[in-house]
Amino acid sequence: MNIGVRGKLFAASLVLLLAVGTVSGLYLEASMRSWLEARIADDLVDHARTCADVVEVAKAADSVERVDGLADRLGRSTGARITIIAEDGRVLGDSELDPQAVYAVENHGRRPEVLDARARGRGVIERYSVTIGTRMLYVAVPFEREDGLRGVARASTPLSEVDAVVGRLRLLLLVAGAIGLVLAVIMSGLASHLMTRTLRALVQTTRDISRGERSSDLPVTSGDELGGLAGSVRRLAADLEAGVDELRQERDRFETILESMSEAVLALDADGRITLANRAAAALLGGPEVLEEGRPLLETLRAPQLVDLIDAARSASASTEFDLAAAVGASHRRIVARAAPISSSGGVVVAMHDVTEVRRLETVRRDFVANVSHELRTPVSIIRANAETLLSGALESPDTARRFIEPMQRSATRLGALISDLLDLSRIEAGQYRLEPTGLGLAPLVQRAAEGVSLAADENETRVEIDVDAELQLRADPDALEQILVNLLDNAIKYSGKGGHVRVGAERRGERIRVEVSDDGPGIEERHRARVFERFYRIDTGRSREMGGTGLGLSIVKNLITIQGGEIGVEPNRPKGSRFWFTLPVG
Ligand code: ADP
Repeated sequence: MNIGVRGKLFAASLVLLLAVGTVSGLYLEASMRSWLEARIADDLVDHARTCADVVEVAKAADSVERVDGLADRLGRSTGARITIIAEDGRVLGDSELDPQAVYAVENHGRRPEVLDARARGRGVIERYSVTIGTRMLYVAVPFEREDGLRGVARASTPLSEVDAVVGRLRLLLLVAGAIGLVLAVIMSGLASHLMTRTLRALVQTTRDISRGERSSDLPVTSGDELGGLAGSVRRLAADLEAGVDELRQERDRFETILESMSEAVLALDADGRITLANRAAAALLGGPEVLEEGRPLLETLRAPQLVDLIDAARSASASTEFDLAAAVGASHRRIVARAAPISSSGGVVVAMHDVTEVRRLETVRRDFVANVSHELRTPVSIIRANAETLLSGALESPDTARRFIEPMQRSATRLGALISDLLDLSRIEAGQYRLEPTGLGLAPLVQRAAEGVSLAADENETRVEIDVDAELQLRADPDALEQILVNLLDNAIKYSGKGGHVRVGAERRGERIRVEVSDDGPGIEERHRARVFERFYRIDTGRSREMGGTGLGLSIVKNLITIQGGEIGVEPNRPKGSRFWFTLPVG
């Protein structure tokens, strides 16, 4: 049962009051009783002695009637019961009996007070009187008259008076006790009210603190221990609040950092359950619902490498790279994950980084380097082999020499073209290709480009038809646009074969000018269409090389179009051939 401070205080003061009241009451009663009895005994001794003296000197006390009469008078004057007993124990007179009754009274010779009085000169005895039916005090003293009468004079009185006094005292004590009780209730109530006010405030404050709320101001009402405690709690609350504020700031800072990170960060508990996941983690792994707090991570990500990583990270930092199975409608992701143990909780922090693009670029770069080396190797080996042959004697014969020098020249030209294309490409990709877009008339530029490829067209017996409205204006860098047109025309002439037919057309579509270069060559199959713009992608490598192609032309063209805000594509030409098109803004 919870009785509270007020109840405890009241109970304590009640017990104290009862204990003190009972002990002091009993003591008071006992000492009062013995004091009263001593007083009564003293009085009785005096009365008995007076009686003895009176009997000794009374001249006419020679018969029972006279002695009894004397006893009656003495009894009246002392207020006690007076009994005169002869030496042989016969009762000679009694203040409360008439002479007839005195004759009938039994012999008092064996009464203990009488025996004591005879033996020691005084007998004081307290005992129950069967005659009167109450507790009595008897005092007896001996007497001896000159005429030879000897005996004992006894004075006695009932102790009921003592009982009455003690009873009154007891009543008094009970009343005092009741008053004390009421006072105790009031006092303990008052004291506990003062105490509990501070205590309640203390309880409220500690409750606020434990709930993490800002604690209400705690009043320090007294300078006692409770006041001291309130002061300590107040300081504690202030310290805690300052600490919590600091932690809150720390947490906010931590959260901001975590949320602004591009890396996915996850914290797991000792059982591998998610305790924290940042926004990047949700974005990488398929939404916040997948990373619900308390969910085992490995239920969400079923990657064996991740299981191993988390196991390893329980003791020391570790890292791994793995393929993340594709979410619905997405492609596989390549993930680099690092994990470190959280020493205090036995959990693990996992940081994940999507390296899909990085790895793709690495592959592109690797392939590019391999392609470049491959492209360079053939002409360089031709030059070296032929130079060696020439040096080892072929130079002597001019006809033979020519046979070896011509391939060397072709290889050198190819190398030159390759290096020039590579330089263009790297300058464009590095952003060093300075473009100055201006408003241009399209027709003259197409004309100039066509003139640039006229030699190749003549060699190939190809007719280049230009169908461009003289009014069309577009916004582009003139050199870049010419390079684009020359490249597309060159390809069209090259791949359409002898006697081919090439056409350049243009039209305005909204805010764009669409330019088309079509041929009636072999065309490009659907599966190659998107890829012909990739670096070194060729449908027929041998044929392309034979025709002096580097495999970089279309990729340069695409780059030049894209950086000028345009688009490029290829579609089949009717009835045969291909149609390369690009768009640029209206000038
Ligand atoms: P190349 O230097 O080999 O011509 P390009 O980048 O200019 O390199 O072209 C890439 C490939 O696209 C060519 O090798 C060729 O197979 C194909 N191609 C380009 N233009 C045409 C076209 N007009 N007709 C058919 N195929 C073409």
